[in-house]
Amino acid sequence: MNSYVCTLCPRQCGARRTETENTTGYCGMPAQPVLARAALHYGEEPCIRGTCGSGTVFFSGCSLGCVYCQNTPISHGRQGKPVTTERLADIFRELEAAGAHNINLVNPTHYAVSVRKALKLYKPSIPVVYNTSGYERTETLHMLDGLVDVYLPDCKYVDSQLSATLSGAPEYFLYTSAAILEMARQTGPVVLDEAGMMTKGTMVRHLVLPGHTKNSLAVLDWLATIKDSVWVSLMFQYTPCGDLTGHKELQRPLTRRECEKVWQYMECLGITEGYVQELGSTGTTMIPAFDLTGV
Ligand code: SF4
Repeated sequence: MNSYVCTLCPRQCGARRTETENTTGYCGMPAQPVLARAALHYGEEPCIRGTCGSGTVFFSGCSLGCVYCQNTPISHGRQGKPVTTERLADIFRELEAAGAHNINLVNPTHYAVSVRKALKLYKPSIPVVYNTSGYERTETLHMLDGLVDVYLPDCKYVDSQLSATLSGAPEYFLYTSAAILEMARQTGPVVLDEAGMMTKGTMVRHLVLPGHTKNSLAVLDWLATIKDSVWVSLMFQYTPCGDLTGHKELQRPLTRRECEKVWQYMECLGITEGYVQELGSTGTTMIPAFDLTGV
């Protein structure tokens, strides 16, 4: 029986996680991975989705828990099906055989032990992408050194009051900035293949939030200091989701003025490697059905 006292994420809540239970941990998830979907997905950046799609594995539960999460049914609602480590490795095989450009692990932080075991059982010949909120411990990332080819972390906040209010994590930037430096160290600079697909490197995503452009500019200030080591993906797809009671500013999409302000600032800082999402990308069309496809 796989059972341990968990300190995988910065919460370090010390919950005892067994294969099937975690009643006391912040994330509330068992040691055994719970999945909501495993399928080709076309909602990522062009160098990740390509023409054939990214082999995306959506993990259920979350150790961060943002109030505005677009995947609320699986992050807060924890919907999904438990799978063994062997089954997780088989899913990697199946997605690879289906023609995926990569294996894209979405929000795997709280299952890092099982992810590592599954990748030891079967390391795909296509790149493995670790797609995370950025709220990571460097000690946990060390376990994945050599197994992950591409890191796709968020950098959501510099403002500690904002990260406390919206994600219950006042120390978000402290952990995430250290984690991103470790990710960049592991992967080295971004490498694209002849088809323009990312095979190595770290690309940091920042989702602009309505009413919080000041925080976005601070995030970009920091990213400018590491722009030779990472790519940046600036995202405008914010769509009001979840229970936003008490967060009036989040109950509307971004305005064009907010998007342009942040985009122009990014240009002024000379951050040129990466992507800027199309203005008006709001909506729920990029959220797939969490119906256990491929699980
Ligand atoms: S992964 Fe979950 S159980 Fe482990 S420390 Fe983080 S919140 Fe606690």
